[in-house]
Amino acid sequence: MAVNTYKTIIIGAGISGLGCAHKLLENNYDNFRIISSDIGGRILESKSKDVEYGAYYIMSIYHNTASFVKRGRRIKPTNLIFHKNNHTYGIFDKKIFTHFFQLIKLIFILRKFKKYYESFKTNCLYSSQINCLKSDAYLWKLYNSNADSFVKEKQIKEIVYDYLAEALHGTAFMPIKSLNAFEFLHFSLPLIAPVYEFNFKKQEAINLVKTHWIKDKVMEIKNKNRKYYILTKNKKIICCENIVVATPPIISKKLLKFKQPLREPASAHMFHLSGKIKNDWNKGEANLFDDKNRMLAIAHQRDNSYLFYTKEEKPDFKRYFLNYKIIRYKYWNPAFNIGGSNLVEFKQGKNLYLIGDNNICGLEDSYIYGMYAANKILGKTID
Ligand SMILES: Cc1cc2nc3c(=O)[nH]c(=O)nc-3n(C[C@H](O)[C@H](O)[C@H](O)COP(=O)(O)OP(=O)(O)OC[C@H]3O[C@@H](n4cnc5c(N)ncnc54)[C@H](O)[C@@H]3O)c2cc1C
Repeated sequence: MAVNTYKTIIIGAGISGLGCAHKLLENNYDNFRIISSDIGGRILESKSKDVEYGAYYIMSIYHNTASFVKRGRRIKPTNLIFHKNNHTYGIFDKKIFTHFFQLIKLIFILRKFKKYYESFKTNCLYSSQINCLKSDAYLWKLYNSNADSFVKEKQIKEIVYDYLAEALHGTAFMPIKSLNAFEFLHFSLPLIAPVYEFNFKKQEAINLVKTHWIKDKVMEIKNKNRKYYILTKNKKIICCENIVVATPPIISKKLLKFKQPLREPASAHMFHLSGKIKNDWNKGEANLFDDKNRMLAIAHQRDNSYLFYTKEEKPDFKRYFLNYKIIRYKYWNPAFNIGGSNLVEFKQGKNLYLIGDNNICGLEDSYIYGMYAANKILGKTID
C-alpha cells in the first residue's frame, strides 16, 4: 500500500486544529496535512446557517478567534430570565439590590481575573498552557481550587447562586460545585465583557485548509523508527514526523492511550424547535435554570426558533410550548470535559503534541492552543 509522507499531520479540524493550520500557513509552512471528516468540530451550524448548535457565544476578548467568526446579536444580561425554586426573575430583581456589595466584590474579582487571564492567553502562544498556569501563582491556585469553596471564601455566595449559577448551568451544563475556580471565573467573564452570538465563517475556514485537508478519520497511530504512521478509516497510511492531535478529549485519550485522567464530562440534550412558546417562557432572550433543575436553558433565536437544552432525553415540551416541531436533535455527550482540576500534558511523546480543550474549555483558548502547537513546530516557543 502506498504511504504518503508529510512533515506534520494535524488530526482534527475544530477550532484548535484550524488555529494550528492557520499559524503554520501564515509562516509559509506547507508540508502538512489536516485530517478530519469535518471542518469546525463543535462549531456546528443549522442547515439555514442562522443557528449555532455547538459553541454559542463569543466574548469581545476573543481576539484570536475573531478571524473565523462573524459577530452576531449581543447577549445582554438584561435580556436573561432566571428560574430558581419556582421563582422567575430578571437581572433587576430586588435580589441584586440586597446583594449589591457582593455584586461589587464579584466585579472586582472578575476584573482582576480578566487582567491575569489576558496575559495568560498571550503567554500561551509561546509556552504550554500547563507551564503558563504553573508560573502564575494566582491562576494556578484558582485552577486547583473548587469553585464552590472559592465563592464561600470570598463571601459572594448569594449573588453567585442567584445569578451566575443559572448562567453557568445553562452554558457549562454543570453545577458550580463541580468546576474549578479558574473555569468558574472564566465562564463568568460575560458579566464584565460584552458577549455576542456568532456565525462561523466556515467557507473561509475551508478555503484556508482545502489544499491541505484530507477528509478522513484517524483510527490508529503507530510509532516506528522515529516516525509516526497514521491509519485512517479509508484504509490510508500516512507517515509523518510531527503529530498534533486536536480531537475532543475523549477521542484523544483513546487515540493516544494516555493514562492521565480527563476532567469530568458535561453533557446536554439539545433540541432545535420551532413553534409557539408559552407566555411564561417568552419574556427574555434566554431562560436559565438553577443547577438543581434538569432544564439547562431555552434560547430564543433570531429566526424565532428556539434552542432547548436539557438533561432529559425526553423532555416535557408541552410544559413550555403551545405547539412545537423538532427541527434537529443532538446529544452532546460529552459537550466538553470541564469538571475538576485534572490537567493533561501538551507533549505526549517525541514530536507528538496534544491540544484542544482538555485543560481549558472554549473557542479562544482552544484556538490559542493550536497556535502554540504550530509555534512549537516552527521552533518559536520558549519552553
Ligand atoms: C453545546 C456546546 C456549547 C458550547 N458553547 C461554547 C460557547 O458558547 N463559547 C465557547 O467559547 N465555547 C463553547 N463550547 C466549547 C467549544 O466548542 C470547544 O471548547 C471548542 O470548540 C473545542 O475545539 P476543538 O478544536 O478542540 O475540538 P472540536 O471542535 O471538537 O474539534 C475536534 C475535531 O476533531 C475531529 N475528529 C474527531 N475524531 C477524529 C478522528 N478519529 N480522526 C480525525 N479527526 C477527528 C472532529 O471531526 C473535529 O473536526 C461549546 C461546546 C458545546 C458542545
